[in-house]
Amino acid sequence: MQWVYDFEAGSKEMKDILGGKGANLAEMSSIGLPVPQGFTVSTKVNFEYFENNNKLPEAVIKEIDEAVKRLEEKAGQKFNDAKNPLLVSVRSGAAISMPGMMDTVLNLGINEEVAETIGKNTDNYPFAYDNYRRFIQMYSDVVLEIPKSKFDKVLERHQLETGVKTFKEFDKERMLKVIKEYLEIVKMNTGEDFPIEARDQLLKAIEAVFRSWKNERAILYRKINGISDSLGTAVNVQRMVFGNYDGTSGTGVLFSRNPSSGKDELFGEFLFNAQGEDVVAGIRTPEPIANLKDHHPELHKEIFDLAKKLENHYKDVQDIEFTIERGKVYLLQTRNGKRTAKAAIKIAMDLVKEGLIDEKTALLRIPADSVSTLLHPDFSEKSKAEGTMLAKGLAASPGAAKGKVYFSAEDIVKASQRGEDCILVRKETSPEDLAGMLNAKGILTSRGGMTSHAAVVARSMGKTCVAGCSDVQVDEDAKLVKAGEHTLKEGDYISIDGSDGSVFLGELNFEESKTSDELEVLLDWSDKYSKTLVRANGDTPTDAKVAIGFRADGIGLCRTEHMFFDKDRITSVREMILAENLEERKVALEKIRPFQEDDFYNILKTMGQRPITVRLLDPPLHEFLPKTEQDVMDLVEQTGKTKEKIEAVSDSLHEFNPMLGHRGCRLALTYPEIYEMQTEALITAACKLKKENIETAVEIMIPLVGFNEELVILRKLVQETADRIIKDMGVELSYKIGTMIEIPRACLTADKVAMNADFFSFGTNDLTQMTMGFSRDDVNVFMGEYIDKKVFDVNPFVTIDREGVGQLVKMAVEKAKSTGKDIKIGVCGEHGGDPSSIEFLLSCGLQYVSCSPFRIPVAKIASAQYHIRQEMK
Ligand code: ADP
Ligand code: MG
Ligand code: MG
Repeated sequence: MQWVYDFEAGSKEMKDILGGKGANLAEMSSIGLPVPQGFTVSTKVNFEYFENNNKLPEAVIKEIDEAVKRLEEKAGQKFNDAKNPLLVSVRSGAAISMPGMMDTVLNLGINEEVAETIGKNTDNYPFAYDNYRRFIQMYSDVVLEIPKSKFDKVLERHQLETGVKTFKEFDKERMLKVIKEYLEIVKMNTGEDFPIEARDQLLKAIEAVFRSWKNERAILYRKINGISDSLGTAVNVQRMVFGNYDGTSGTGVLFSRNPSSGKDELFGEFLFNAQGEDVVAGIRTPEPIANLKDHHPELHKEIFDLAKKLENHYKDVQDIEFTIERGKVYLLQTRNGKRTAKAAIKIAMDLVKEGLIDEKTALLRIPADSVSTLLHPDFSEKSKAEGTMLAKGLAASPGAAKGKVYFSAEDIVKASQRGEDCILVRKETSPEDLAGMLNAKGILTSRGGMTSHAAVVARSMGKTCVAGCSDVQVDEDAKLVKAGEHTLKEGDYISIDGSDGSVFLGELNFEESKTSDELEVLLDWSDKYSKTLVRANGDTPTDAKVAIGFRADGIGLCRTEHMFFDKDRITSVREMILAENLEERKVALEKIRPFQEDDFYNILKTMGQRPITVRLLDPPLHEFLPKTEQDVMDLVEQTGKTKEKIEAVSDSLHEFNPMLGHRGCRLALTYPEIYEMQTEALITAACKLKKENIETAVEIMIPLVGFNEELVILRKLVQETADRIIKDMGVELSYKIGTMIEIPRACLTADKVAMNADFFSFGTNDLTQMTMGFSRDDVNVFMGEYIDKKVFDVNPFVTIDREGVGQLVKMAVEKAKSTGKDIKIGVCGEHGGDPSSIEFLLSCGLQYVSCSPFRIPVAKIASAQYHIRQEMK
């Protein structure tokens, strides 16, 4: 087994063993780009390290020693050398990039003597001692776990005493004094002297990076991003180049295209005379990369050419870290750039136009879920015009968000658990704030640039963010934010617009969303490569119109009960429930009928030939009864029934377990006249349309079937009723009758149920509820606990539980198909709009998915991605 690889020996395909950073450093070296030499300790070592009681195995140490020798030769420098000492960086890098989650140590190999040598060689003592100071601090942080702030305090005190702004402005005596105090801090905290041997420093730093795989923020990051804990990180050891040398040196980060808008322009920031994290730390404000054009056009051009070369080589937008040492540009990292949903779409499309990638590749690059952010509403122009603008910051991550302000991640988490919409407000964010950012609607920071932690993380999460908003003063301890004459305290409302950086007092109104041209092209592509139909869950002509706007292939679930709740009909529905005999009930149903027929007529007309699955009445009757005293009194007046009578019916309908109670087809077994009336209304509407030469495709769905026998009885009722109407109306009309598969017993006996169904539509919400025995309405009380304790990773009502519920789905599909019947199978639960669930359900053999209208683009892209991946297999 090989543990250590020189950069020259690797390639971009070797991410699993070299990590993403290492593999790309190797790739860049091999295509002749300027990368400082180095080597990578493989991810495999991380596992060995933990197995070996958190120590590097001897065999690995041996390979590291040999690699150092080779590096010394190539660099013409040596560890601890009195003439030409070698300094290196030690950098983490896992197979899947986890930016900022693990640790890096720069300037390793330095001690007082080495610093002297460097000072002498370069005639630049401030530079030499700056490296030494930085090293002590970083090594202490990463390896010895002494907080950075202890060192910062020392530095701040000396700066105050002398009135200078940076370490490098101190005289030598003062520099040595600071460093001496640094070393004392180390001694005090560890009881040991700071290590002076480069090899010693190196091995300990490598171990610390391996250890950092299991630090809290890395674990959280992996959890959020679904990255396996078992992968491990690699460690890169690389000769240092110095951006902190002088005014012709610097360091920066850049994207080959704008990761926020997707525009084809260099986007990034740099700082002259700076090292490493200075750019993203938010201490000094970096300059936009475009400014480089003014001072150093040749450097700007060189960087531009390098960025384009990388982009052409990787065929994707690159996120690049570079350092300039005395006018020479070095590349220190490249990876595919994270981007907003909007940018992902624009970039994928532009790359297709430029011929770098094909449509299928482009589709696979667009996270299906992120498309929905395209549809997220902005604030309406009107409400922005009328609102009170507090400040303007950087438009760091687009979208609009409003909510109550909170000043710590902890408070955000608590508030969001209470169901509040909240905005995280901080001076700047750090990886410790991750949980808060995740639970906030949006993020506002007063410091930091477009590549600050807040900005980068918000974009990757698709969260609205306004960063670097220096117009506001944030006091995190007092939990206050000030903007001009306004002071907001914890819990006050604020609105932020991440598309233009504006911040408003109070709550603005959202604007109705519209589809963009880009979305149209995307839908074209998905339709071209997907073999799955996507329908909408929709109950009204308005829903139907939205669905058609997104090119829905039909309606997969039209719930009829909403038609019962409307103000002008609820009284008749209540009359029907209060009826003391069949005659009375029929009289009440006759009053409801015209409303139903009208509703059906309108939605059928809107959908035309597109199929529409109408579910007959599903909820238990008590849901329709009056809830308040006033409602009861009104009902007394409207129906002439006594209050006592109403209460008696109410009591008789009370159920301990309504979810498992008298509802769905069970209701129709007791009161067939309800389904009869609904069928009459529906089929009459379809026949009327037929007479107007409008074709329809009606599918009648019977809910909550657990026994074939239920379906036999109700199918007969529906079919006889429908055929009677069709005959009376004197038209020709075909329709389908099917069932919702949402009870585990229906899955287990799906072969029988299928004999009487033209279609199955999985109601995976109820199926999940009944398979798990979790009440959908009560589960949230303990859901968090279950996810925390890893009983399951994700909410099974959001993403289908493949192992349990999924097995039932699979079995039901197989059983249904085993009957040899040409049965159409789809899904209409919430899972129909969730990409991961869609992938699974399609692999089970479903022909269509149905989801809420606004999820249609997501479902279409997820389906297309499934079919493209299938084809590639
Ligand atoms: P992260 O994964 O957190 O980005 P990196 O390993 O990329 O950490 O290191 C952070 C920064 O440190 C780099 O962007 C670069 O500016 C600086 N750095 C790392 N290695 C070197 C080196 N060999 N020479 C100069 N700067 C370096
Ligand atoms: Mg980096
Ligand atoms: Mg149901």
